[in-house]
Amino acid sequence: MKVPFLDFAPMHNELHEQLVEKFNKVLDANYFILGREVEEFETKFASFCKAKHVLGCGNGLDALILALRALEIGNGDDVIVPSNTYIATALAVSYVGATPIFVEPELATFNINPDEIEKKITPKTKVIIAVHLYGRAADMDAINSIAKKHNLKVIEDCAQAHGAKYKGRNIGTLGDIAGFSFYPGKNLGALGDAGAVVTNDDELAHKVSMLRNYGSQIKYVHEVKGTNSRLDEFQAGFLSVKLQNLEKWNAERDRIANIYINEIKNPLITLPQPSNGEYKNVWHIFAVLCDKRNELEKFLNENGIGTNKHYPTPMHLQGAYKDLGIKRGELPIAEKISACELSIPIYYGMMEEQVNYIIEKLNCFEE
Ligand SMILES: *Cc1c(COP(=O)(O)O)cnc(C)c1O
Repeated sequence: MKVPFLDFAPMHNELHEQLVEKFNKVLDANYFILGREVEEFETKFASFCKAKHVLGCGNGLDALILALRALEIGNGDDVIVPSNTYIATALAVSYVGATPIFVEPELATFNINPDEIEKKITPKTKVIIAVHLYGRAADMDAINSIAKKHNLKVIEDCAQAHGAKYKGRNIGTLGDIAGFSFYPGKNLGALGDAGAVVTNDDELAHKVSMLRNYGSQIKYVHEVKGTNSRLDEFQAGFLSVKLQNLEKWNAERDRIANIYINEIKNPLITLPQPSNGEYKNVWHIFAVLCDKRNELEKFLNENGIGTNKHYPTPMHLQGAYKDLGIKRGELPIAEKISACELSIPIYYGMMEEQVNYIIEKLNCFEE
């Protein structure tokens, strides 16, 4: 049997007609950037997140850069970032001229360990970026209370967690400002690149609305040095169509995750924690840990099961961050995750026999 790591077809097939209709509508309207489709999606996504403002932009990296710029973070500032995340989180910090300060995650949740944050705070620290990694919310109450104590701002990186909840509250509204990615492979993905900034703060929203569009609110009047990071009408239109089914798709991921958690029983494999009342996980990724990760990967791939590693090299050991001078061994938990983490298929449209086949293979894996 074959099980790909991810398959868009089951999602897109059931919306095919509506997506084509949307394409035709935008084509016929002959208006392509920051128009009615963008406004409509921003309104719908704001209501989905229960947030006051949503501002569409080019991609998830830009969303984080725009959030940092709105908070006026730049040269000489330090920003706390988890040591285990996709590199975009740190690159956004570097891009505005600030320095990412890596803080280790908890192995049990993969998310930043609030107890480790305070040790890294200095007078230069201005912001904590909380990443809701793999679809599970970070511990926002703990993060917000540290931020309040030290007068720091909090940015949520929501790129992997559309629809996730923390103590009943929607992620994206738990800090000062948040960035979302709608890269096709995310839980809510466009048919190309797209992103959004989400905030309840009127002033930050106003700044982002200018920064994303050349620093301009009125055509040819440029109040600040902005950039070009706009959401286009096609992608906004496709996102509005797909947003209708996001809850259903997330529920299916949660159903599959629960089957995995109940039925994968192999002492060599450590499973992630299930959703519960405090943490509603949307399972962007189903991450298992295994000391024989590479052997497990090879075994699954040879049996037709697609896998992925999130992430094979931690950021501090990437060439891009040589300049920080962090040596192997200094961030042992991030290094352990990069050595032992394996992501197995979890997506809407997986067949029951595919789920069972994966469980069977994982249960018979041995050293
Ligand atoms: C995907 C991702 C981003 C960046 O999003 P893009 O749309 O690819 O720019 C940022 N942070 C995290 C955690 C991500 O997974």
